[in-house]
Amino acid sequence: MTEQAAAEAYAAVDAAVDEFADEATELLTRLVAVRSVNPLQPGVDGSLYAGGEKRANELLAEALRPLGFGIEWVEIAEGRPNLVAVLTGSGGGRSLGLNGHIDTVAPQAGRFDDPWTAVIEDGWLYGLGATDMKAGHAAMWLAAKALQRAGVTLAGDLHIHSVVGEETMSHEIGTTAILEAGHIVDGVIVPEPTSTAPDLLRVANAAAGNHLFSVTVRGKSTHWASRNLAIRAGGPGDEIGVNAIDKVVYVYSAMRQLEEQWAFTKTHPSFPAGAFIIHPGVLRADIGVEAAPYFPDRARIDYLLSFPPGYTSDEIAAEVEEHIDLASRLDPWLRDHPVEFTWIDSWPPAFTDPEGDFARSVMASRADLASVDAAVPPLGAPVTAAAQSDANFYEAFGIPALVCGPGDVRVAHAADERVALGNIALAARMIARAAVDWCGLGETADKR
Ligand SMILES: [Zn+2]
Repeated sequence: MTEQAAAEAYAAVDAAVDEFADEATELLTRLVAVRSVNPLQPGVDGSLYAGGEKRANELLAEALRPLGFGIEWVEIAEGRPNLVAVLTGSGGGRSLGLNGHIDTVAPQAGRFDDPWTAVIEDGWLYGLGATDMKAGHAAMWLAAKALQRAGVTLAGDLHIHSVVGEETMSHEIGTTAILEAGHIVDGVIVPEPTSTAPDLLRVANAAAGNHLFSVTVRGKSTHWASRNLAIRAGGPGDEIGVNAIDKVVYVYSAMRQLEEQWAFTKTHPSFPAGAFIIHPGVLRADIGVEAAPYFPDRARIDYLLSFPPGYTSDEIAAEVEEHIDLASRLDPWLRDHPVEFTWIDSWPPAFTDPEGDFARSVMASRADLASVDAAVPPLGAPVTAAAQSDANFYEAFGIPALVCGPGDVRVAHAADERVALGNIALAARMIARAAVDWCGLGETADKR
């Protein structure tokens, strides 16, 4: 591909993006109107939203079909199909994937009565899922529409993977299911929100791993008035009763100690010092009912930890358990009544080499856009993602993955979620460039 051919293609794409930007807004409005709330969100009555993800994916499929995309479905969880839309290239090029999750979090009370009726105000579109991440879907569509309108044929295939279940980390029924079904690509862009003004279209190549887990500590119940006998000289001690709150505080302190150590032992060049944490989120202790006149016989802390690329979830879990096990040996009760761990969900870390072919291609595409549009500030190198995304699961398959999209993560999962409409066009222009640069121009375009 000559530089001139690329420049001509980009100019034609930019004109087409302008031409169809309003149609992208309309598509986003229609996507927001579909109640694709993740039915497994905590606190959500899933039956209210059954089939929402499916309807939203069908809507997107209908928008992509006229652009020449072949449509396939990957359905692991019944009634929650993932969309795989493929625009087959003319041959000989690398394939590019675009991944977006079609599920949203639960609605929150905000300024507007109905979170599913998009409201446009001062260049912003308000609505549930606007930023996270239906604007990403609108940008993918607009990029593909602009490529078609501009007469650009790609050499490699362009995939759109629109997945369910992302908001509850249910990747086995979403992104991982698509990959296991054989829809493999050579690189993927996930247009999750990375545009916090004025830093529009930041490209993220790294994300921390996460692990959700709980620790349970057992005690021994007795009458509250026996506390002195349980903890002071002269009494029988643990024989009469063990207050699980006393024990869980000990475990909490040991975990804090490990977290302090992590500031030094868990480091990664893509993250600031001290980035990795062991966050206690829920603390519960009682005897089965909330009543103070008893020794609570059970206590539980729910934690969410983050860890750097280079470790597996299993390695991290083993390290945490070993640390707590060692600390427990210093306490006679805990030595004989080991802390119980429940490892609930984990999200692997992500790291795509910023010097690799894919990152260089995407960064070059972004640099080209920045050179013609002052709204996009130059970005020397990829940054660390502010949140988890499905990029991690492509990397688990050895596929380089970068996150870059039109939304603003600060208004994701928030009341009055919104997206700046202008960012959708910018993201589309960048995605189209990345498709041309990575997949190559196809034969038809070369003949033009
Ligand atoms: Zn998201």
